Amino acid sequence: MKLYNTLSKKVEEFKSLQEINSGSLVSRENPKQVNMYACGVTVYDYTHIGHLRKYVMDDILVRVLRHVGYDVKHIQNITDVGHLASDDDEGEDKMEKGARKYGQSAWEVAKKFEDYFFYSMDLMGVLRPTLSCRATEHIQSQLDMVLDLEKKGYTYVIDGDGVYFDTSKLETYGELSGHDPRKAHRETRIGEIEGKKNPSDFALWKFEKAGENRQMVWPSPWHPRSFPGWHIECSAMSIEHLGPELDIHTGGIDHVAVHHANEIAQSETFTGKKPFSRFWVHHNFLRVNGEKMSKSLGNFFTIDDILKKGFKPAALRLLFLSSHYRSEQNFTIQSLEASQSALHKLLQAYLEIKENHEDRSELENSDEAHQLSKQFFDAVENDLNTSEALTIVWKLLKSQLSNAQKYRLLLEFDRVLGLGLVSMDEDDLPKSDKVTLQIDDLPKDLQDLFRDRELARKNKDFAKSDEIRTKFEEAGYQLIDQAGSVLIKH
Ligand code: AMP
Ligand code: ZN
Repeated sequence: MKLYNTLSKKVEEFKSLQEINSGSLVSRENPKQVNMYACGVTVYDYTHIGHLRKYVMDDILVRVLRHVGYDVKHIQNITDVGHLASDDDEGEDKMEKGARKYGQSAWEVAKKFEDYFFYSMDLMGVLRPTLSCRATEHIQSQLDMVLDLEKKGYTYVIDGDGVYFDTSKLETYGELSGHDPRKAHRETRIGEIEGKKNPSDFALWKFEKAGENRQMVWPSPWHPRSFPGWHIECSAMSIEHLGPELDIHTGGIDHVAVHHANEIAQSETFTGKKPFSRFWVHHNFLRVNGEKMSKSLGNFFTIDDILKKGFKPAALRLLFLSSHYRSEQNFTIQSLEASQSALHKLLQAYLEIKENHEDRSELENSDEAHQLSKQFFDAVENDLNTSEALTIVWKLLKSQLSNAQKYRLLLEFDRVLGLGLVSMDEDDLPKSDKVTLQIDDLPKDLQDLFRDRELARKNKDFAKSDEIRTKFEEAGYQLIDQAGSVLIKH
């Protein structure tokens, strides 16, 4: 399997640490563990479709790894404290901001939006992580880590503000972005906090300001009312649950320059092991109508907004899969409409194949099936080329393979694509543009043809029944074979 690694800026052959250490290659008969950590959402507001794209693509990564034979331990955090309005350790805490906006406590807001996140993920067919962990439930491990960094001499305290990591003590910093901000003259990240020794230094622990009266505070050796900085949670939780060397760490591209640079700095200093994560996977952003999503522009969509417009979550998922995770994607309602039509076409074909697949196994064409399967998995195993994989799905539908083969492959492909075909049925097809007819509603010649087809089906003369179905299609009718009956649509 190949994966682009932001650390090397190359597409690399992926191998897990356990695989390398054991000296034997992974396969489905010889599974190996992958330790994967994904930066989670900040639960101060509704999960939006940009988040949905990020986590759908994480989900594809997990599904592909599992297909290859990896036993994926997927840890995803919930940021419910410490993420300030600016990545530069300044501004209001997003949770306190959310609490004010929604007139609830910061704890209530965290729970409400965590629930909304999982509600959205479930609708999108995103598999639950092995473990979802909240920053507020890992305060002690974060504190222990900061104390260790202090003991090692990498920190300093700014009175009334917080404990900071001194990036000048590191040999390397900012390798992920390929750009060491310590060497740049105030061009990347400029901290305006008074007392910072270097612009790239970052907060490990913050103190409540006088008169602030924060809702989320804990005692620490430096201040009785304090709280963790944003970056430390991901280091502490990933190390606690996955150990000092991760196989894969994922996040949005906005995390490369600051959040992940800081995670690397503090984690490698804490564990003494390098690299903190062997692979770094970064997802590009979703824009809406060519612009950054924001409520003020009216282009901020949640999954409920999508449902209310009559779209299925699987149509949105299919839309995400049509572009590469490392490319920016521009969402428009028109593109979602096109995706929903494609989904209906796929579902229609799937349902027909499903109804007719059992009797056709004698027509198997294994060579072609093998070819298509290889092309599909080569695509997804090549840095998650989902759009290429989708073209193989359409190729499969158009192929000469038997329905039995098509059915088997479609289900196998969908275990990676996650569209959920297996749990869809007739009710998921649009009802408005087609009506269901009885035999008596058909013109006389078609009534006769219909009966001929029934007879052909009974005699297992499928070539003839397919031939008659084509005649119906040419006349604008659709025949959907179901157990014990045939639906006629026009
Ligand atoms: P946040 O809730 O802002 O902490 O973001 C959670 C994850 O979603 C991060 O990995 C972000 O990079 C990612 N993310 C946020 N907005 C978008 C977007 N518009 N498109 C894609 N990913 C996003
Ligand atoms: Zn993170």
